[in-house]
Amino acid sequence: MATVRLGEAGSAALAAGCASPEVVARYRAKLVQVDGSGCQWWTGAVSGRGHGRFWLARGRVLVAHRFAFALANGVAALAAAEVLGHRCDNPLCQRVGPGHVVTSSYVENRREWAARRDVTGSPLGDVRGSRRRARELRDLARTDPALVAADLVRLRRVFGEQPSLW
Ligand SMILES: [Zn+2]
Repeated sequence: MATVRLGEAGSAALAAGCASPEVVARYRAKLVQVDGSGCQWWTGAVSGRGHGRFWLARGRVLVAHRFAFALANGVAALAAAEVLGHRCDNPLCQRVGPGHVVTSSYVENRREWAARRDVTGSPLGDVRGSRRRARELRDLARTDPALVAADLVRLRRVFGEQPSLW
């Protein structure tokens, strides 16, 4: 995940977005809950890497979970974070906190990815690849969150019971 250093204009736009009830409501309208999943699922646009994309303002788009992090912890905390990682291995997840979106480092992120990729049932090992999987699950979440729950159940059947599976 590339670190996007916030310039002064970017920081100001982000701070304004976090403080705007209209922008926050527009962001929250894209979130859904899925039964059996602790994640908060993004149903908006998805980037090539499977991350949510959120239009903060005209011409200004950012990774959705970075907006979530700034909302929860402030723009300064986001600017200070080297990188954000998904401990739940769900790039669509917007839940900020232990087990989901956390601050990390490039080294730590790469080490975690390598360690979890080969775990049976890990979404990182999904043959669909992270981009296709994220898009498919996003589409399901958008249509009906129950369909995502069904997909997770299906994966558990394919790969075996995996309590940590998102
Ligand atoms: Zn999550």
